[in-house]
Amino acid sequence: MNSAALTIGFVMLHTSPLDIPGTKDAGGMNVVVQAQAEALARAGHDVRIYTRRSDAAVPKRVEVQPGLAVIHLDAGPARLLAKGEHEAVMDEFGHLLDAELELDPVDLLHAEHWFSGIAALSVARGRKIPLVQSYHSIAAEPDSPLTDGERPESPGRLAGEKLLASEADLIIAVSEAERQTVIDRLGGDPDQIRVVPLGVDTELFYPCVTTVCAEQRDWLKRGGRPEVIVVGRLHPLKGFDLIIEAIALMPAETRPVLRLVGAPPPDGDEYAQGLHEAVARHGMLSTTAFDGALRRSELAERIRAATIMVVPSHSETFGLVALEAAASGVPVIARATGGLREAVIDGTTGVLVTGDDPQVWATEVANLLGDAERLERMGAAAREHAVNSSWIASGERLVEAYSLACAGRTA
Ligand code: UDP
Repeated sequence: MNSAALTIGFVMLHTSPLDIPGTKDAGGMNVVVQAQAEALARAGHDVRIYTRRSDAAVPKRVEVQPGLAVIHLDAGPARLLAKGEHEAVMDEFGHLLDAELELDPVDLLHAEHWFSGIAALSVARGRKIPLVQSYHSIAAEPDSPLTDGERPESPGRLAGEKLLASEADLIIAVSEAERQTVIDRLGGDPDQIRVVPLGVDTELFYPCVTTVCAEQRDWLKRGGRPEVIVVGRLHPLKGFDLIIEAIALMPAETRPVLRLVGAPPPDGDEYAQGLHEAVARHGMLSTTAFDGALRRSELAERIRAATIMVVPSHSETFGLVALEAAASGVPVIARATGGLREAVIDGTTGVLVTGDDPQVWATEVANLLGDAERLERMGAAAREHAVNSSWIASGERLVEAYSLACAGRTA
C-alpha cells in the first residue's frame, strides 16, 4: 500500500454495485462506482462499498478483489424497493452505517445519489470525516412536464439535494454540464465542485476485429440491413419510444435493424409494454430485437457489431453508453443535452440532435447510414476520442479531490 493510501467508504444505498447494469435500478452509477472502486483498490487504497441488502441470500460482506469489499446493511426489508420507498429507510441505513464505521473506520465517505448523501451526512459529521457527494442525476424542476409514463419526483428529493450541495465537503460532477446544474439548480458553491470525468474500459469495448463481427457490420456488401443499437434501462427518460417512431418513418425496405438493450426498472414495465406495442403497430417486429439486459461482455459484442448507436435520452448527466460506443469505434447520434454534449463531438465522433421530432431523428439516422465514408471516419475518430478516457485516470482525479476534502476538514 502506498504511503498516502486512504480508507474510502462509498455509500450506495439504493442499488448494489454487484447488480447487473441494465437490470433493477442498476445503470451508469453502478458501472461508475464499480470501475472507480476497482481502480482505487488497485492503486493501493482500501475501499468498501456500503449498500442496502435487497436479497436475503446475499452474504453481509462480499470481497470483490484485494482491497475492495461490498458490505450489505439490513435497512428495511430484504427485497427490491421502488425508488419512492427508499426515503423511509435512509435513517435506519445511516445508523447501521455508523455502527459499521465504529468497528471499522474510514477516512472519508463518498455518497452516491441523494438517498445515500442524506443517510451519510450525519454519520460523517458525527465522526468528523469528510462527506464527498456525487449526484449522478438531479431532480427535475417541480413544475417541469413529465415524459410520457414517467413517475412524479419524490417531494423530498430537490430539498435533499440542495441540503447536500450546501453541507457536503466536496461535490463530484461527472461532466461540466452537471457542474453547472449543481450551481444553477442546487446553489452549489463553484469552489466546492470538482469535475471527475468518467472512463471506459477500452479492453472490453473495442472496435470490431473478428471476421464474424466484420461480416455482420459489412451489411452493404451482404445486401442486408444496417443496425441501430439503443442501450439503457427501459425507462421513459431514455427516449426509446422516439427512436421507434423515427425508424417507423423510414421506408420499410430501407429500415435498419433496431436493437434495444436493457430491462425495465423495478417500479414498472408499462413503458416497456408500450414499446413492444409500438413496434407491432408499425409492422417492425421482424426488424426489431428486444435483447433485455445484457452482461457487459455480451453488450460490448453487440455494440461493436452495430452500425451506429442512438442515444435519444431526454436528459443524461453523462451518458456512459455513448462513450462505450465510441470506444467500440461506433458513431453515435445523441440528443444535444447534458453530458452527451461532451461525450459526443458533433460532426466528428457522431451527431447531436435537438428536439423531439421523429422526422428529424429519422433524417439524421438515414443520412449517416447512407454515407459509408462518414461512418468509417466517425468510427475511427470516436475510438481515438475514447481511448483517452481511462478509469485509472478517473480514479486518480478522485483521489486528488478526496485529498482536498480531507485537507479542508482538518484545516
Ligand atoms: N448497461 C449494461 N447492460 C444493459 C444495459 C446497460 O451493462 O443491458 C450499462 C451500459 O453499458 C452503461 C450503463 O449500464 O455502462 C448505463 O449508463 P448510462 O450513463 O448510459 O445511463 P444511466 O443508467 O446512468 O441512466
